[in-house]
Amino acid sequence: MRDVQPTASHFIDGRYVEDVAGQSILSIFPAKNVVIASLHSATPSIIEAALASAVRAQREWGALKPVLRGRVLRKAADIIRARNQELSEIETLDTGKPIQETLVADAASGADALEYFAGLAATMTGETMPVGDGDFVYTIREPLGVCVGIGAWNYPTQIACWKAAPALAAGNSMIFKPSELTPLGALKLAEILIEAGAPPGLFNVVQGYGDVGAALVTDPRVAKVSLTGSVPTGKKVYAAAAAGVKHVTMELGGKSPLIIFDDADLDSAVSAAINANFYSSGQVCSNGTRVFVHDAIRPAFLKRLVARTATAIIGDPLDAATQVGPLVSEAQRNKVLGFIETGKAEGARLLIGGRVPPSQNEGFYVEPTVFADVTDDMTIAREEIFGPVMAVLGFADEADVIARANATEFGLAAGVFTADLARAHRVIARLEAGTCWINTYNITPVEAPFGGVKLSGVGRENSRAALDHYSQIKSVYVASNPVAAAY
Ligand code: NAD
Repeated sequence: MRDVQPTASHFIDGRYVEDVAGQSILSIFPAKNVVIASLHSATPSIIEAALASAVRAQREWGALKPVLRGRVLRKAADIIRARNQELSEIETLDTGKPIQETLVADAASGADALEYFAGLAATMTGETMPVGDGDFVYTIREPLGVCVGIGAWNYPTQIACWKAAPALAAGNSMIFKPSELTPLGALKLAEILIEAGAPPGLFNVVQGYGDVGAALVTDPRVAKVSLTGSVPTGKKVYAAAAAGVKHVTMELGGKSPLIIFDDADLDSAVSAAINANFYSSGQVCSNGTRVFVHDAIRPAFLKRLVARTATAIIGDPLDAATQVGPLVSEAQRNKVLGFIETGKAEGARLLIGGRVPPSQNEGFYVEPTVFADVTDDMTIAREEIFGPVMAVLGFADEADVIARANATEFGLAAGVFTADLARAHRVIARLEAGTCWINTYNITPVEAPFGGVKLSGVGRENSRAALDHYSQIKSVYVASNPVAAAY
């Protein structure tokens, strides 16, 4: 197994730093329940060092020619691609996700974000508005200053890159706090940005639990916070940011609907349902965990779904053949098993899975699980499980399924499968979700805005829209005439 113990816990002002007085943080390889790295949570002096250097670096970076900022980000993207194998192995060890996923979805999508925003850095222009008599107003898009990124544990490297790339392209600096469960990937991004030519302090990584995140969010030197996490944490962080009238991006949880009409391509729909529930062992915020299948095709859909789910290869995530790895932690595994028990107790019909796989009892595994006969009021149809548990519900009527799909406090994502294009657009237009798919699911290219409505979040990541969330407009009135006054 690769040695992934970092030189020190934090990366500040261009170098690794340590303060062993901080609370212990252990990274555990979830497939074997073994400690792979031992780190420390940030102490107040570590947090202060990160803030001071981020303030300093931002002044220098914000004044740099945008095209030169872009060049650094582009170089970082190239380095990530060249080191993809190593970075993917670290991600697999830190999270337990199969190497066949991390090789294509994690550092690789981070590199895409850095490359995309590298190209946009020099395109951030303002507007000119004539206002009469030769006077005019022009606008300048300015950086916000020091931004804080706080990550979840399911896509540690991708989350760090999705936040850092637009923040840095727009001229900000960033302090990133990874999830305490997955501290490793962001440190590699910090190393790589320095190698690519970023000034020390531009992207600092501090480790820690929620208290470290809270200390960063409330510091007056911080202009913005971007959180990827659960709704309860989002509410706390949003409230803390509001006290300082700070900008926020909130990428929170979901319970998204995937609606499959009776004219859908059945094999594609089954593939999408599998990807939307079992990829990353179901630890994906935008997962389509409420699968509404039209009554006319539900028996055929379930038959194919169960037959294909039975062939999933569950195993060591470092093995290239493995398709399903463990969950990130013992606590998460136990939480998911609890939801499965509740599903059974409330009358859902377990079609496949539902257990810890007998051959994998040393890690935090749960079998891909399908429940049929799920009704809207059941716990497994209402709460975010964040594990490989699919709930299949029936429907017969378009208006009815739209109303039921929207009957949730979440609004992150939604998908529709149908061969009828008019219906696809009509249904999508009425779904309360920020990120939608027609005849596919969970594809998140950097070109497309990503984010939620309702309790699933505020703001957007990726696409040009992300730059708006990491910049502010200065409006400048230019007079060409003498100024008159009343007296
Ligand atoms: P979490 O809310 O427990 O933690 C998220 C991060 O917030 C962690 O780094 C944690 O240390 C930090 N934190 C906790 N309390 C804090 C506080 N008071 N102040 C500042 N920071 C604090 O989430 P998790 O369990 O790590 O991740 C799973 C959740 O994340 C799920 O709900 C999932 O849907 C969501 N998620 C959303 C997206 C998205 O893009 N919408 C992506 C991935 C995960």
